Amino acid sequence: MEKSHKKNEEFSLVPAVYLHIPFCREICPFCSFAVCKDQSELHSKYIKEMIKEISMIIKGVKEKNQNLSELQLSSVNKMLESIYFGGGTPSRLGIPELSMLLSELRDNFTFAKNIEITFEMNPEDVSPKYLKNLDKIGVNRLSIGGQSFHDAQLRKLGRCHDALDLRRACQEIVKSPIQNWNIDLMFGIPGQSVSMFKKDLEAAISYIPNHISLYGLEIHERTPFGKNLQISNWVNTHYHEYVEMYLWAVRRLKAAGLIQYEVSNFSREGKQSKSNMLVWSGEEYLGFGAGAHSYFGKIRKGNIGSIKTYISHLKKNILPIEFEEKLTKNQLAMEFMMLGLRNSEGVNLQEWLEKFGLIWGIHEEQYVNKLYENGYAFKKDNHFCLTPKGMLMADKITVEMIPSSS
Ligand code: SF4
Repeated sequence: MEKSHKKNEEFSLVPAVYLHIPFCREICPFCSFAVCKDQSELHSKYIKEMIKEISMIIKGVKEKNQNLSELQLSSVNKMLESIYFGGGTPSRLGIPELSMLLSELRDNFTFAKNIEITFEMNPEDVSPKYLKNLDKIGVNRLSIGGQSFHDAQLRKLGRCHDALDLRRACQEIVKSPIQNWNIDLMFGIPGQSVSMFKKDLEAAISYIPNHISLYGLEIHERTPFGKNLQISNWVNTHYHEYVEMYLWAVRRLKAAGLIQYEVSNFSREGKQSKSNMLVWSGEEYLGFGAGAHSYFGKIRKGNIGSIKTYISHLKKNILPIEFEEKLTKNQLAMEFMMLGLRNSEGVNLQEWLEKFGLIWGIHEEQYVNKLYENGYAFKKDNHFCLTPKGMLMADKITVEMIPSSS
């Protein structure tokens, strides 16, 4: 397939598309995503139905909008700016399967010239040949699920790779044609000391990626970690180290030229993930695949997470939608605040209150003043911004900002 992006007569309904590839070699005990143990015989069935989902959604939107020219007019500047292959583990798929998905998108969306196509990979799947072929089909950004450079931590997380695999993968990416890349690291892993985490971060920095995502381990109830008392106890009793790791990382990454642009995301100038930036700025996006979410026409939609049910619904030409909701004023206000606070730009509080018709009482005023006084927040160009310490509590702070009377 050609690397250049053919422009067709179509337009792009949304600037961002997410493709969920649910297959994983093993299921990590902390993972709460829609995933399944990889079965190669499922790949072609899944891809076939995903392609059907894309065409059904596009056809449905066109049918609803009889006056296509009007729709085209409103979409005149809309091009597809970002495609994100996430999972799961997209790198379980072969190049022909990925090409088929990209072709379907090319047939239905106009690709922007500088479209960013991100591809999540696990270290054990990285090879020079695979990287070269990804480049050929148009992938221009990689995100590698490294998590740690320590074998003990990787074993604890149930990962399929060891530290050597991760080092080899980073070396291969550095030599590959795809030079825009991210590495995911995790902190707060049971048994991980602050000094081990510091070594992990130093190792990641040494490969000079232009993006690093840092995720604190979260315990989800229904996962094996959630049911393991030892793990939950460890996490609950080591919160101070969790905070120490995070605050140190923010300073260290800044010194390494990677600026924090969101709670968990750090990048070199201009190398923020386009997908992140579009979704977090409230742009519409479509997600395809089991468990994928979409936001389109002020409606949030989520697909069924079960891979088998996803396939069987589409086989019968039924869209695999699990929920669909029109966001209420309060939900929209909460979402706007949440996205803003997680972002380094913060939120203009006056504009936010006016936009959503909210009126603050004394409780909210006092709460915000306390955040300023205690070093959780600061003012920048009339915007209310969180410090790194505050970012760790962004979700809790958001809830407190919504007036209790509304
Ligand atoms: S590889 Fe990633 S998506 Fe798959 S189970 Fe592990 S954490 Fe979840």
